[in-house]
Amino acid sequence: MESQHGRFEPTRFEDLTVTVDFHCHSACRFCIVQEGMNRFKGVAFERFTAAVDDNVEQRRYRRLTFTGGEVALEKRLFDFVDYARESGSFEHVRLQTNGRLMADRAFAKKVVDAGIDEFFVSLHGPNAAVQDHISQRPGSFDEAWAGMQNLKELGATLLTNTVLCTPNADHLSAIVETVAPLEPVRMEWWNYLPMEDFSDERELLVPMARLMPSLRDALERAAELGIETTTKYVPRCLLGEHGASLDNGQPDVVIAEDFYEPYPRFSCLYEAKCEHSETCLGLTHSYIEKYGWERDRLVPEPRTTPWREPVDGFALASERAGGTGAAAGGRTHPEWRALVDGVAEAHDAQLTSLTLDRRRCIYHFEQGESSVDVVLTARTADGPALLRTASFDLHYRNVEGAETTLAPLVRAVAEAVRDRDPGGMKLDERKGLVGVDALRRSALRKQRKTES
Ligand code: SF4
Repeated sequence: MESQHGRFEPTRFEDLTVTVDFHCHSACRFCIVQEGMNRFKGVAFERFTAAVDDNVEQRRYRRLTFTGGEVALEKRLFDFVDYARESGSFEHVRLQTNGRLMADRAFAKKVVDAGIDEFFVSLHGPNAAVQDHISQRPGSFDEAWAGMQNLKELGATLLTNTVLCTPNADHLSAIVETVAPLEPVRMEWWNYLPMEDFSDERELLVPMARLMPSLRDALERAAELGIETTTKYVPRCLLGEHGASLDNGQPDVVIAEDFYEPYPRFSCLYEAKCEHSETCLGLTHSYIEKYGWERDRLVPEPRTTPWREPVDGFALASERAGGTGAAAGGRTHPEWRALVDGVAEAHDAQLTSLTLDRRRCIYHFEQGESSVDVVLTARTADGPALLRTASFDLHYRNVEGAETTLAPLVRAVAEAVRDRDPGGMKLDERKGLVGVDALRRSALRKQRKTES
């Protein structure tokens, strides 16, 4: 019998996700691709085959996941699956699905026979009352339930995905109890991410005081039943003994490239102090706007290793402010430095480093024994910010030492950036890696040009 050891561990370096289609027959209240459904198309078949061909050569990925809206609605799904399976380059092919179409036994069998061996099924409630309210489609729970039963009987592997939101926040353990007889190998719990309703007019964001006890109970119950769990986008320090379940990673995605542009941003007040800040994202800005920083609820784990600015693997470069050449990555970022040039010196301080990555520009200032970071992120309409300039939201963090003398420095830096920012300066806001470079449209275009 095949060993299952490690098969369902988070494997973002081994998983490739392809967004085949953005249509859906449910209308989940929290759906993060709902807006995308109006704008994005699925990946073109040729682009998909290029990704598969690349994997035949490179063997980067062991698992292929089809996702989007409801992928089972896509007429060409079987062409995609056939091509992937015939390539022989993937050990597992997974469908992310609401499960509803699998209620038709013949269709479920066709999908399983085509070679999809893993089903990541959305289960947002323990019963029709909760799930149908969320999906806004009466009967959707019964269909999904029948679909999961069919898949189980057909020998497929089941995983579930629950998006944590107000309508199901008090039913999380009940979801575990409901699905337990079908023996899912893993249950994933993803906290709701506002992708368009940033001010939470739909009231889907659950305050931590209500969400986390319920989630911890569900994780506990799953553990008692021997079901593995993964959590995403919740503060690790509020997971109790289930902290290790947190995995905010995402697989490589072949997707409409601008899909991740509006990806929510996260912060934690204790980022520099907490041992977990490299893996824990903290809270979304929408959450902070609505419920505050949870200053008294979050519990930073004291660091045992020095904190280093996370670069998420996507840093363009980092530099010491005075450095040049190789030590500075050969970059000086003069336009970013010019925003604050001379300000520190006027306050008996120094700009000691400038870090630029795809999400932010961080200036680290030292003033005697004191220090502070001033951080620029892409401008938003209403995100938390000390000040908004033409291109950026500006805030500060990691205040160490004399606040009374650092405050005028921060104020002067903020005013300088505001006055000097010409507008149109850009950080890359994408949160996730979007496909392997070879498969990006720009790279493909370049390649075609070179070949012609
Ligand atoms: S203190 Fe902040 S970074 Fe640390 S675990 Fe809690 S939320 Fe995450």
